[in-house]
Amino acid sequence: MKKLFFDMDGVLVNFQSGIDKLSEETKREYEGRLDEVPGIFSLMDPMPGAIEAVHTLSEYYDMYILSTAPWKNTTAYSDKIAWLTKHFGDLFKKRVIITHCKNLCDGDYLVDDRAKNGASQFPGEWVQFGTERYPDWEEVTRYLISETFLHDEDDEKLNRRKVNYMLVEKTIKTLDAYMESLNAQCEQGVSDELKSKILKLTRLTNQWLEVSGEQNENKYYDV
Ligand SMILES: [Mg+2]
Repeated sequence: MKKLFFDMDGVLVNFQSGIDKLSEETKREYEGRLDEVPGIFSLMDPMPGAIEAVHTLSEYYDMYILSTAPWKNTTAYSDKIAWLTKHFGDLFKKRVIITHCKNLCDGDYLVDDRAKNGASQFPGEWVQFGTERYPDWEEVTRYLISETFLHDEDDEKLNRRKVNYMLVEKTIKTLDAYMESLNAQCEQGVSDELKSKILKLTRLTNQWLEVSGEQNENKYYDV
């Protein structure tokens, strides 16, 4: 299995949600250095889709946390472990690396939102979360699963791929059915809203067709 590392803040963890829970007084006291508020990490919510994505990817990758804790916030280390245990149980037990030098860790993929602390010099592939290419967990999951199609295979992996193919197939069928219903609506007139829906759906379906490895070009929709 390939090694996959996850950053925490801005990737698994919604940093802002913790700030929103602080009192105005605390916000004033720690202005400009909010990541130093004691216990702030335990207040944060997960990023949308992060929990589900991590569980999905655990089928395909050997996974670790690769995160940085603010140097002056002494509770950040334990808060991060508590957060991971609360949201993932034992999934990352003894698989947490806290460092300011992410470039020294040997892995295949790192999902990280920022170039800082060695992320941009990571020896494997840096999947930059929150960019146009990888805007959210849906896209990151799709990319990382499609990458596994290219990795070396053994029987166990092949079986997982088959399961995944079934999921992709099911998804494409659902999207096809939705497209048909939108096309039917076109007969009553084409509004701008309908046009943009069709365009969005076309892009999404093409992405899924790409993931499925569908070779039949006729199945691709024109955008
Ligand atoms: Mg980050």
